[in-house]
Amino acid sequence: MAANFKQVQQIDVNGHKITKFRSSQTGLSVVHVENEGPIVNGYFTLATESFDDDGCPHTLEHLVFLGSELYPYKGVLDGLANRALANGTNAWTDVDHTAYTIATAGIEGFLNIMPIYIDHILYPTMTEAAYYTEVHNINGDGENAGVVYCEMQGRENSAGSIMDLCRQRIMYPESSGYRYETGGLMLNLRSLEAEKIRQYHRDYYRPDNLCLIISGVVDHGKLLAALGPVEERIISKGPLPPMKRPWVDSPQAPLMSETTKTIVTFPSEDEDMGEVAINWFGAPITDFLTFQALDIVETYLTDSAVSVLQKEMVEIEDPYCTSVEFYTSQRIRTEIKLSFDSVPTEKLEEVEPKFFAILDKIVKEGFDMDRMAAVIKREKLKLLDRLETDHMTLAWPCLVHSLYGKKDDSDLAGFTNDLDNLDKVATFDNATWVKYLREYYVDSKRATVIAKPSAAHAAKQAEDEANRIEEQRKRLGEKKLKELEEALQKHQAQNDIPVPAEIFDNFPIPDVKGIEMIKVITGRSQPDKHFDNEVQKHIDSDPAKVPYFIEYDHIKSEFVELTLFFTSTDLPSHLRPYLDIYFDSFYSLPLVDPATGKETPFEQVVKLLDQDTVSRACGVGVGGMFRQLALVILKTEKAKYSEGIAWLQKMTWHTRFDIERLKVITTKLLNDIPQQKRDGSRMSKACMDVITYDHEKSNIASLNIFQQSKFLADVLKQLEKEPEVVVKALTELREILTRPANIHVQVQGNILQQNEPKAAWVKNFGAKETSATLAPIPFSSQVWSEAGKAPGKKGFVVNMPSIESSFASHVARGPTDFLDPDYAALLVLAECLDTLEGPFWKQLRGSGAVYGANLRVDVEAGFLSFTIYRSPDALRAYNLAAKIVEDYASGKTKFTKQELEGAKASIVYRIVRKEETISGAATEAFVNQVLKKVSANYNKEFLERVQAVTPEQMQHAMDKYLRNVFSADNSIVVVTSATTKVKDISEGFKKIGFQLETKNIDDI
Ligand SMILES: [Zn+2]
Repeated sequence: MAANFKQVQQIDVNGHKITKFRSSQTGLSVVHVENEGPIVNGYFTLATESFDDDGCPHTLEHLVFLGSELYPYKGVLDGLANRALANGTNAWTDVDHTAYTIATAGIEGFLNIMPIYIDHILYPTMTEAAYYTEVHNINGDGENAGVVYCEMQGRENSAGSIMDLCRQRIMYPESSGYRYETGGLMLNLRSLEAEKIRQYHRDYYRPDNLCLIISGVVDHGKLLAALGPVEERIISKGPLPPMKRPWVDSPQAPLMSETTKTIVTFPSEDEDMGEVAINWFGAPITDFLTFQALDIVETYLTDSAVSVLQKEMVEIEDPYCTSVEFYTSQRIRTEIKLSFDSVPTEKLEEVEPKFFAILDKIVKEGFDMDRMAAVIKREKLKLLDRLETDHMTLAWPCLVHSLYGKKDDSDLAGFTNDLDNLDKVATFDNATWVKYLREYYVDSKRATVIAKPSAAHAAKQAEDEANRIEEQRKRLGEKKLKELEEALQKHQAQNDIPVPAEIFDNFPIPDVKGIEMIKVITGRSQPDKHFDNEVQKHIDSDPAKVPYFIEYDHIKSEFVELTLFFTSTDLPSHLRPYLDIYFDSFYSLPLVDPATGKETPFEQVVKLLDQDTVSRACGVGVGGMFRQLALVILKTEKAKYSEGIAWLQKMTWHTRFDIERLKVITTKLLNDIPQQKRDGSRMSKACMDVITYDHEKSNIASLNIFQQSKFLADVLKQLEKEPEVVVKALTELREILTRPANIHVQVQGNILQQNEPKAAWVKNFGAKETSATLAPIPFSSQVWSEAGKAPGKKGFVVNMPSIESSFASHVARGPTDFLDPDYAALLVLAECLDTLEGPFWKQLRGSGAVYGANLRVDVEAGFLSFTIYRSPDALRAYNLAAKIVEDYASGKTKFTKQELEGAKASIVYRIVRKEETISGAATEAFVNQVLKKVSANYNKEFLERVQAVTPEQMQHAMDKYLRNVFSADNSIVVVTSATTKVKDISEGFKKIGFQLETKNIDDI
């Protein structure tokens, strides 16, 4: 059957081979994208077109996971995926396609799970029971429920969704699939029926409309052989009627006939900030050169602080918005959206005229061709960098090609060939660029959507919904509601028939030793006997003496990434809150030459930096951990190693804190806050940080949104009255942070190709001698508040009128040492409980109590946390979770052998994933050896520790740690909630022993 597959196309993109196969019998397509690294990624994609708002594509996506003909059990796919060394499966539905995803550590598990996954996609059971719980039902309280329904309830009335639907309605006629909400509108979902979804499946989920895109290290022979049984099964089902290709064979929508401006409102308690979007049609999808040209125009307009839109609309004292960004969607004719975020309400109507005034000026005066050349060069470098570090860079165009490419695949290269098109647009003259700008943005018809925040809208929405539910209850009556409650339980029980253990036992778990990891070779600036390798020898052969700690992590890359890690332990408490302002301004301040006193204005600095760097970043924390450290990162071509180091030196010590710049940056930070304060999940975590960390010593507490909203407003006033006070504070902060004893340096890249790995630092970074010893790496667990040291009884219930449900964060103490013998057992225990289709998933999500529930072991912070994501009642969800945990703790329920094996396999994936790319692997090398103070082999050793965890060790971790999360004496709780539930939740927690304070979001 593997012989059915013919290679139809093979191309090479910068050393990555892309090979496409198609079955002559079934039409099934397979694309392999060659990519180095231990992870294999799969995107199984179908073109899905829909002509109403019923949400067939999205509801079907959910039903696929509830069982297939050969595996008719809910949860079997995710259970098996874990055993394939994955972390479950996932999927997304876009307007024009549905993609089913999986990523495994190594290829063996991938080939084992692939046929089972395809069986779910092509032959799902789509039972009535699955529809009932997963899509929509009315529960015993007379409320509309179901996983998809609740998901859309959380999304439909957000500013973004309201604006998108408005745009779709304006840009497309009723005959176009692009016009509709493929997620399903709540009104439609309430009357959708299972049979309609089944018919949708018959129409679109066919092998000749399915393309398997696989990225990683894969042997073609083995891949096609694994598809043999799939082919056999498809053929056994008999021939299918001919298919009309979605989108490509449908009538095309005309261009917009007029320019429009539409004002919509969205629910929001705070009425200060709104949003604006301008929408156009771009070029047809196969006009690759125009696509590239427009992308460059958009980058020119918006990228970096000196781009014309940033300079005139964002980086000013009284800004129009906090960010301005273009988004392009590759439809049959591309869509272009320009978004202005956090626009002060009084400026909503001014945004569009201002934008077009800027464009008119460019049309008259032309582009700055030096900057244009720099933008194109940098885009090319960024693309080369992405080819090294992000496998989606090639997988994505292959996906788009499967939807819109020619049937004979002859245009696959066109979809993936951005490098060539970048070379072509580099030859354009000014008049050509102006022509593109006029044709597609100035003269083209557009749809502008302005979204105004409205408290009245929020109130009306809540009232309408309450009335609707009330009427629904009355209409149904007591008896019917009781029947509905029973129906829900009946359907849930049908979905939850246990998967026979032998299905799991018959699915082998691959040997971890077979996974090929990326090699990183480490050396240090001082000779070090721990590192007996060619990289250390190469470094030692450079005679320069560096007074800094530098770790060199060697990988095969065309780029070098330089990172400075600053220890912030010495900062006094009055300076710590300035860290965000400091780092937001770090790369955009004027420079002063220390020898001559000559100043380079900030615009010039940013331009020069753009020429010499591929990317740069800075801020507090490493991947959400180690937030007592601050980082400055700069990436350059490997030939610009010395220039990169020189830039770090200049930006660290020779910038001037310009008052106008500080005003702009502080205003931007402040204007971003209202938007964040509408996010219930984020706010529950932020409140928890307020309680658990020391406000004097901890960056997490000092940079907290609540602290910052007051602090930034004060700084802004200070900058008007006595700006020198702010400048003095920032100068002091910099002096302390950048003391040599506070700096650790990492260099990642091709070290062996650098002739002066050390001398380049001495020459370009300065060799300030220091006698001080290097400051130890601080952990967040060293800056707990009193409440953080001994969690118990405390907490907040926070009233948030802008949300329709509740979110919660529960915290207890966890291990604080990465070598703690309980760590692996606690991790396995947490994974067993919160894995996809595990006890939390089935009993909390499955019963409609939550959309998500998650356990996290954070060793660096020393906390074990349980979070509830979007729940109609966070108290009920907590009590249910507590009951589940208690039943395991007391031995009343036990994890099966298969659950234990699955959890361990899934942890393997999560650890290997950190080292997925060369830069990920090099970062892990540093995090392990320098920050966590463990060996380079720590991840590998930890995998072995995880494999060896016994049920006894898990019981020990349960008693010592996990039980505490569910005990009032040992945990802290924060709930953010819709106003209607605040009182009940607060009283409920009191009953189980917590003393919760009720707060308004603005009073924290
Ligand atoms: Zn969904």
